[in-house]
This record gives sequence, structure tokens and C-alpha cells, in this order.
Amino acid sequence: MEQEHKEMDQSQSLWLADKKKDSFPSVSEDLTADVIIVGGGITGIATAFEMTERGLDVIMIDANELMQGTTGHTTAKVTSQHDVYYHELIQHIGMPNARLYVEANEKAKELIQTRVKEHQIECQLEVRDAYLYTKEESGVKKLKKELDAYKQLGIDHDWKTELPFDPEIKAALVMKQQAQFHPLHYLNALVQLLIERGVRIYENTAAVDVKEGHRPAVITKNGHHLTGRYIISCSHFPFYDGKGLYFTRIHPNQSYVVAAKTNKPLPDGMYLGIDQPSHSLRTAKINGEKVVLIGGEGHKTGQGGDARTHYEALEKFGHEILGIQEVLYRWSTHDLVTMDKIPYIGYLTKNHPNILVATGFRKWGMTTSHVAATLIGDLIEGKSNPYESIYIPSRFVPDPFVKEFIKENANVAAQLITGKLNRPDQTIDNLKPGEGGIVSYEHKKCGAFKSEDGNVVLVDTTCTHLGCEVAWNNSDRTWDCPCHGSRFSVTGEVVEGPAKKPLKRSYYEQ
Ligand SMILES: Cc1cc2nc3c(=O)[nH]c(=O)nc-3n(C[C@H](O)[C@H](O)[C@H](O)COP(=O)(O)OP(=O)(O)OC[C@H]3O[C@@H](n4cnc5c(N)ncnc54)[C@H](O)[C@@H]3O)c2cc1C
Repeated sequence: MEQEHKEMDQSQSLWLADKKKDSFPSVSEDLTADVIIVGGGITGIATAFEMTERGLDVIMIDANELMQGTTGHTTAKVTSQHDVYYHELIQHIGMPNARLYVEANEKAKELIQTRVKEHQIECQLEVRDAYLYTKEESGVKKLKKELDAYKQLGIDHDWKTELPFDPEIKAALVMKQQAQFHPLHYLNALVQLLIERGVRIYENTAAVDVKEGHRPAVITKNGHHLTGRYIISCSHFPFYDGKGLYFTRIHPNQSYVVAAKTNKPLPDGMYLGIDQPSHSLRTAKINGEKVVLIGGEGHKTGQGGDARTHYEALEKFGHEILGIQEVLYRWSTHDLVTMDKIPYIGYLTKNHPNILVATGFRKWGMTTSHVAATLIGDLIEGKSNPYESIYIPSRFVPDPFVKEFIKENANVAAQLITGKLNRPDQTIDNLKPGEGGIVSYEHKKCGAFKSEDGNVVLVDTTCTHLGCEVAWNNSDRTWDCPCHGSRFSVTGEVVEGPAKKPLKRSYYEQ
């Protein structure tokens, strides 16, 4: 295994630049195991680990490389402070269930801490308080309601009326004793243990379907069957829907992060500004040097316009509060949000006793992935788990979230229509090398990407899922669907579902 230190690349995540690189083969034959896990991000790896703790034989596959998905682009706060959330959650699921939600996440945080200690994992794990702060009167009111919820839920907390890095801050709600870490150092250590425990890991192996039955099988893109007693979908967006209609119940939300050396240090703590646009702050270390991660600028995937404006806004914000010396890395990705803002963890549908799913973590996947691992472990072993009914994917979504559901689908319909009506006003000639965009070519609308050496790839911009128009994401160099979040590479290959088929390629005579 070799430590890969790439040249500092501004359009890359700090974690991926500092990742120890193992590679794994792709599946080349039919295989069997107790459990087949699809997806090698934090959810897949934590779940695989949990399965081995329970003595189960595991195969884990990833369509690309392990940890390169959302997990490689996170900010890795390990916390139960999931934004301003608990006041609303109590209204939605009641006090006893809200208490269970907090308990599940606190236990997950402790599980990570225990594993780090037990296996002596060097992953920069640091205990930090988590802060929600506001500069606005309306924000203070919101935070006071959240404070009330913390008191009722018995959360260890503090209330501040100032924070040292910004004199305009009016109030902050602190959740004590939370944590931050280097997610890929932690996960790499777990992967080493998985290898030692005999887990079979495969990369560049996309799951495209499932053969349901008493012993279900994952069908890979190259036609191999991976048969197990259980299949667990940890593929971020569920790779298999099983009539669960997940694409109508989850929407993707994109965010941006920059890692910068700053003039002033960020005081110890993990911060989240609740005023819009909201900003997230934490420290991290790269090659022994302290940097500040500045995140935020969230928007629905495919609906955010030029990524550069979001990075510039983050840098401006960082400069105002701490002074930016140098931006070392910048990156963006999306996470998935369910209709009622509670993740889906459990059986795919009521009719799938041996296919399970974990998705919709709403940018709080560090703890939620570990909640998922233990909950799924208990379901598989037939043990009762106090959190099952909170996360159950087949739950009824009551009012007021039905309104949210309708709003989301109206947004999808609007995207579908707007995308079709817009006519591009640029041609291939307007694109600079390394740039993509929607262009007019031979009187037709196409998606075009011009590589650094001037080659052009054209794709049909109709998403192969339900026909919305994809938008160019110049930060990740992907085509993103604003409706349900499918993402495609420059050449149209599926990077993330729900789409299963690539975008149609068009041909360009140079
Ligand atoms: C900008 C940002 C900041 C965040 N910050 C935090 C934070 O501070 N704290 C926190 O708790 N959470 C945070 N999150 C959320 C957290 O990062 C995610 O919830 C978490 O990483 C999701 O992990 P995952 O394993 O479920 O998905 P992923 O990491 O995306 O892994 C899924 C894997 O499945 C693979 N896959 C997909 N389809 C297939 C297929 N068909 N076949 C095989 N493999 C497939 C993919 O290649 C991928 O490797 C943040 C998210 C974002 C976007």
C-alpha cells in the first residue's frame, strides 16, 4: 500500500488528495456470500464492518473506487447536531421518538470513537463542541426554540451570545462533546480490517439490477450474479428501486467546500451558520498544517448555475471572518434529502425481507451511516432495534410533509418544462478547453464538453431516467439532472442514479 500525495489540486477534496490508495479487482465470476453490499462509501464500509462483527461473510462492490463518492467530499463533522432540526422533529414524530433519534446518533458517534480507540486508528479524531449560530433576530428566535428542544431532549448544551470570530453574531446554541475526524483515514483503517477479516472487495463493478427471491442476487453490469442471503443497498441513491418509488421521495442537494490557510485561526469548535446562505466551518490538518474548511452555498443539484460563483462566495465569507492566505482545495458534491428529512434505513419495501437500504442522510452521514450499520445488523439477525420504526423506509409521510412532497414534485415538473423550452445561445466555438455547456449544434440542442486538447464530446441532454434536461456542472465536470439528481460523466456514463442508462452520445465532426 502506498501513500499517495498528489500535487495540491484546487478542484479536489482535501481528503481524497490525502488518501492511502488500495485498489481492488472487479468481479469476473458469479459469487456467493451471506451479505452483498453495494456501495463502498462510509455506509457500505461501516455496514460491512458491522456484518463481520456479527460473523457474516461479506462481498462489497463499488461502481467506481471506494470512498470516491459523497464520502470523499464530506466535511466529516461527527455530530448529532443536524442543523436546526429538533424543534421541528419533536412536532413531527413526538418527544419519545425524537429522543430515540438523538440517542441513535449519539451512540453512533460513540461507536466511531470506540472503534478508533480499539483499533488505534490515526484519523485526527478530535472532540469538539458543535455550534449553530445566527446574526439575525429571526435566527435568535429560531435558535431559542431549538434550545428549548435541546432542554426537553436532555442534550448537553450551552448558549452563547457572542463568538470570537465574528462580532455580528447574536446567538449560538452549542451541542457539547461532538467530534471531527479525517473520514478517509478512518475508513481506510476499517478497509484494512475488512481485508484481514476476509471480506471480498471489488471496485469498478456496477450493480445494475437485482434478481429477487429467497436468495436474491445482485446483477453486475458485466452480467455476473452475486448471490446472498441479504442484499444491502449502500449506493447513496438506491441502485435498485423495487417499486419503492425512491426517486419521488428523495431529492439531491449540492454543497461546496473550500479548504484554506487563514490569517486568523478558527477557535476550536465546529460551526454552522443558520442564516441564508448558511455556512459551515471546521478545522482540519493536511501534511501537519492546519486549514479551515469553509462549506455551504447549498442548492438543489443541477439548479445552482456556475459553480465558480459559489466558490467565490465561500472564499469571500472566509476572507471576511478569518482572512484567507491561500485556498488549497475546493470541491463540491451532493447528498440526498428525504421528504420528511429523516433518512430511510431498513427493508427496501414491505415486500423485501432480504433487501435493505440506507439513504437520504441530509448531509449528516457520518453518524447516520453507523446508525444504519447497527440497525441493519439487528434486522438481519432478527433482533429488535429501538430505532427501526423511526427510519423505516415504508413509513407514511404525514402532513405537513405532504405539502413538501407536492412542492418538490412541482419543482420537478417546472424543471422538466423549463429545461425543454430553453434554447441555448452558445455554440461549440464559445467553449474554452476544459469547459462544458449546452450548445446549439446543427440546429439541435446538445450537451458539449471540450477537452483540454480541444476534442469535443456531444451528448443528448435528455436525462435517461424520466426525461428532464441535464445541466452542466463545471465543478465536477458532470451532467446533473435537476429533477431527481442523476449524474452523468462528460461522455454520458451514469455516475449516480436513479438513471441506469447513459446519455445518448452525439457525434461531432472536427
Ligand atoms: C458538502 C457536504 C458536506 C457534508 N458534511 C458532512 C458532515 O460534516 N457531517 C456528516 O455527518 N455528514 C456530512 N455530509 C454527508 C455525508 O458526507 C454523506 O451522507 C455520506 O458521505 C454518504 O455516504 P454513503 O456511503 O451513503 O454514500 P457515498 O459516499 O456516495 O457512497 C456510495 C458509493 O456507492 C457507489 N455506487 C453507486 N451506485 C452504485 C452501483 N450501481 N453499483 C455499485 N456501486 C455503486 C458509489 O460509487 C459510491 O462509492 C456532507 C455531505 C456533503 C455533500
